Amino acid sequence: MKRAFIVLGSSVLVLVAVLVFRAATVKSRQIHAEPVKDLAIDARAAAGRLAAAIRFPTVSHENGENVERAAFLGLHEHLQRSFPRVHAALSRETVADYSLLYTWKGTNPSLAPILLMSHQDVVPVEPGTEKDWTHPAFSGLIDGGWVWGRGTLDDKVGVLAILEAAETLLARGFQPQRTVYFAFGHDEEVGGHQGAAAVAALLERRGIRPELILDEGGLIAEGMVQGIDKPVALIGTAEKGYVSVELVAEAAGGHSSMPPRHGAIGKLAAAVEELEGHPMPARIDGATKRSFEYLAPEMPFVPRLVLSNLWLFAPVAERQFAADPAANARIRTTTAATVFQAGIKENVLPHRARAVVNFRILQGDSIEAVLRHVRETVGPEIRVSATGVTKTEPSPESPDTAPDFALLQRTVAQLFPGTVVSPNLLSGGTDTKHYLRLSGNVYRFLPIRMHAEDLARLHGTNERIGVENYGEIVRFYAQLLRNGATSPQPLS
Ligand SMILES: [Zn+2]
Repeated sequence: MKRAFIVLGSSVLVLVAVLVFRAATVKSRQIHAEPVKDLAIDARAAAGRLAAAIRFPTVSHENGENVERAAFLGLHEHLQRSFPRVHAALSRETVADYSLLYTWKGTNPSLAPILLMSHQDVVPVEPGTEKDWTHPAFSGLIDGGWVWGRGTLDDKVGVLAILEAAETLLARGFQPQRTVYFAFGHDEEVGGHQGAAAVAALLERRGIRPELILDEGGLIAEGMVQGIDKPVALIGTAEKGYVSVELVAEAAGGHSSMPPRHGAIGKLAAAVEELEGHPMPARIDGATKRSFEYLAPEMPFVPRLVLSNLWLFAPVAERQFAADPAANARIRTTTAATVFQAGIKENVLPHRARAVVNFRILQGDSIEAVLRHVRETVGPEIRVSATGVTKTEPSPESPDTAPDFALLQRTVAQLFPGTVVSPNLLSGGTDTKHYLRLSGNVYRFLPIRMHAEDLARLHGTNERIGVENYGEIVRFYAQLLRNGATSPQPLS
């Protein structure tokens, strides 16, 4: 007995020693770079041009109907007026009526190009919330150090900042060696099926294979990563897939005075509850696992101990993450019931009840796997089918070991000293889904500084961006082009 204790005791000691050793020796993946000093931007003037762009209500309506033609054309004109050097030195093509593709020819055609992306369209303001805005959503006002309005975070900020960066570089006589493309879709908020899809197809027809594609989708999180006080630049290296699944239950309709035990509504409600109660399995791998390799070394000892020993602690960590919606979304395909429709009158049993459940698909799962999971979970009495225009498989993961990632990391280190950089899995979708055939190096990042309480501004009320932060974003794109468009292949 005593001997057994001794053996057990010593193996626990060995285990603890291994865990502590791993936690203590895990190496930081952060790099140091000298801050950039020779890239002054007049942030106030640049913010004025962004503010003016906000005043064109380029709203994407559901189902892609009623394109705001005048707003898009007005925005195009505004861009042309605001960035004369860009419009003299670069070629601009209009694709699918409203999307824009700029080409900045490089001096060395043998180098693979860089593609910077953003989108011109914005989501509508939810009816009834207009009066909650400090300044009206399309007023484009600058007040209190902020540019206010729809599109200041998502994603006119990207369009204007990219052009502003190019204008700044051109004024200094900059000439890229690599060809640089800017692609600004016009229907990202409804899937990009017209705009981004057409631009991507055009580039593909021309045989263009970008070395690097950079779109929106990552940000600088301030106070949002537990255990890290420094700002964290989250560079999206992968994004989840997307499918909406329609569930239909049918039953005998009729008078509600003599109902069956289960009507269509009851059956469907039970099915939805089953789905919520049986999510798809959790997994810490891919971009999420990779992000822990970057974040853990910057954390205090206990979380570092857990995250650098996932071979042992994964089940514990998964249970912890599952309790928090944002963390849960990083480790599994999520299940969200979003539509439930049935019934026309209080005393009539409906023949049919319909629900839609939206799934964001984790790498390793697939649309097919989701449909199989739903069918198995709800049983044969519920009709199951994929619905909606957007159906996307999870993206491949872009490598954090590629020179392109290093380029982004270096540019962040130069302009945002003291910021921790990490790869990241995006639970939302971007226009990059249409570009995945063109390059294996697709990243999603735009250095907007965000606190947890700002997240509600995205697609929400009081969307705004700091004037100073906007200046930083312009400098980021300019420095990225200086770093990336002048170096010989491969990027590094
Ligand atoms: Zn967006």
